[in-house]
Amino acid sequence: MDERVVDPDDTAGEAEIELDRTLRPKRLAEMLGQQKVKEQLRISLSAARERDEALDHVLLSGPPGLGKTTLAHIVAHEMGVELHATSGPLLDRPVDLAGMLTNLGPHDVFFIDEIHRINREVEEYLYSAMEDFRIDIVIDQGPRARSVPIDLERFTLVGATTRQGLLSAPMRSRFGITATLDYYEIEDLAQIVHRDARLLGFNVQDDGAMEVARRSRGTARLAKRWLQRVRDYAQVEGDGTIDAASAAAALKLLKVDQVGLDETDIRLLEAIIDRFDGGPVGVNNLAAVIGEEEDTLSEVYEPYLIRQGFLKRTPKGRVAMARAYQHLGRTPPTTDPDQLNLI
Ligand code: ADP
Repeated sequence: MDERVVDPDDTAGEAEIELDRTLRPKRLAEMLGQQKVKEQLRISLSAARERDEALDHVLLSGPPGLGKTTLAHIVAHEMGVELHATSGPLLDRPVDLAGMLTNLGPHDVFFIDEIHRINREVEEYLYSAMEDFRIDIVIDQGPRARSVPIDLERFTLVGATTRQGLLSAPMRSRFGITATLDYYEIEDLAQIVHRDARLLGFNVQDDGAMEVARRSRGTARLAKRWLQRVRDYAQVEGDGTIDAASAAAALKLLKVDQVGLDETDIRLLEAIIDRFDGGPVGVNNLAAVIGEEEDTLSEVYEPYLIRQGFLKRTPKGRVAMARAYQHLGRTPPTTDPDQLNLI
């Protein structure tokens, strides 16, 4: 499968990582959008600081590219502590976890990305660390092997997940603070575009920022990525001015349409309409037809299409909505019962 240009989950190459260091907001007040989540964290952070305690464990959920990792860094920065990062799939055995936990300083942030992907054994090991700040480690081998309890510093676990539903109930219940990030409004994304351009020392016209924002699928990471591509295009093909026209032309080259859909989204909607009569179609059939994994379909592609009213999930499967037909220039089937009676 070709790499998908709009895959917000793909933490691109060195250049993007370096850019990230410059542009990632460091304080809550610098982070644009996500008002509800920021307000919730602002209060908890102030309270923890005033009491000189570690912040409660925090679970952040939401689609990729919306700012979960950024928020974990912000929490550490606002608390004046270190952040230690890992991710669910990297924590194979409890011993990997033990190594990291025993290195944490007082009130430090321990960030686990994709926390829904840790295995059961590691998860259970994490429970006593989260609850009692204590773990058992095994020393020696063979008949002399024994388990020794170790006290940990009080720390804050920040877990990030794109699939809150896959977390076990006992795991979820161990987080004192849970927050769900939502897709950004276009105006917020336009402000993110202006902020990034300002920090990088160039200018974007308002209509250019809006055009980039509209095509970013409500996702901060894509707004940043598109801005770079549009900047390149404006420099090479134009006079460097980033306006609506150069933004539209640059993103058209990347095959990202006016509302941020790419070729895979279009293939997905066409498959439902043309091959499955508009649905309902099961996600497994759909995944097979477009050659993607079911998980990727439901975690990465569908949330935005559903949010934008192109697609609906029903108990029987996925259904294309009238907006999908209109977007593809097709006539939606008539479902209005009054009109059906006339036929
Ligand atoms: P996630 O962890 O949810 O996948 P990240 O925190 O890695 O997302 O954010 C993706 C990119 O978008 C990063 O480069 C980050 O700096 C940027 N970003 C996220 N939220 C904001 C925001 N509110 N304002 C500015 N940039 C943001």
